[in-house]
Amino acid sequence: SPIPDYLNQVLENARPSESGAPADYIETLANADTSRIAVALAMVDGQIYSAGDDQVEFSIQSISKAFVYAIAIEDAGLKRVLEKIGVEPSGDAFNKLSLERGSNRPMNPMINAGAITAHSLVAGPDATAKQRTDRILEILSKLAGRQLQVDEEVYQAELRDADRNMGIGYMLKAAGVINGDPREAVTGYIRQCSINVNVRDLAMMAATLCNAGIHPVTGESIIPQTSVRQVLSVMTTCGMYDAAGDWVSNIGIPAKSGVAGGIIGALPGQVGIATFSPKLDERGNSVRGVVICEKLSRDMGLHMMDVS
Ligand code: GLU
Repeated sequence: SPIPDYLNQVLENARPSESGAPADYIETLANADTSRIAVALAMVDGQIYSAGDDQVEFSIQSISKAFVYAIAIEDAGLKRVLEKIGVEPSGDAFNKLSLERGSNRPMNPMINAGAITAHSLVAGPDATAKQRTDRILEILSKLAGRQLQVDEEVYQAELRDADRNMGIGYMLKAAGVINGDPREAVTGYIRQCSINVNVRDLAMMAATLCNAGIHPVTGESIIPQTSVRQVLSVMTTCGMYDAAGDWVSNIGIPAKSGVAGGIIGALPGQVGIATFSPKLDERGNSVRGVVICEKLSRDMGLHMMDVS
């Protein structure tokens, strides 16, 4: 098949983009091998293609936010989730201590305040911290099509330096957005971010979003279609940190990135994309990941506003 050759070319095209730096606020991420680069495409019929460091695992980080939002909708209902978390782009940094004026909700589920709230809504109001994280690991594993594991080193490293996220947790508790122990919500959220994946896992997870929530290989319906629509909409407006507008006009694919250097893109009905390269630009998105996605979008005419 010519596709693997094409994907290798896509990687070679991105490799010279050497700017940026790995996230340094989590010790383990700061020491990442910055030469790593990988891409995977998963089709809605279950075909998957990948190139580069496609077996290398890295922590999912903020990419988990998209899927945990879907789980929160499943477990608490869309109405309750919308009462607790808005859907407006914030324009603020992902880790800002902020609530929407008037409604007192986090602006959206892709910033930490909204993601910690979504985490707290998983598995019902009486769930223990372990029940929430177990459920998230189970669903993410189903989406990936294999059993995923938490990277304990990344988890511990982030926990040592979690003052800001703890601050967000306490802010949410004080505002009545989350119930229960804010420390448990934050540690659970950090555990969710520390789940290890490779680009093939992520591409399959994205392809499930492209396929109305039905896993392309197993055929299992994992996320209801109404939740998929909600998740992809929020990814489109808020998924790429402060670069969401640039991304959607330039690349035109609903997407979510994470500080370990992963990006997923999900074009409904067509293809799930995942990239990995640790160096981030000043807005927190993987430099080479953006270059790869730009090329894929151009070459394959993936921009959602284009007539195909
Ligand atoms: N664990 C990270 C945090 O909350 C996730 C950040 C990200 O990937 O944007 O700070």
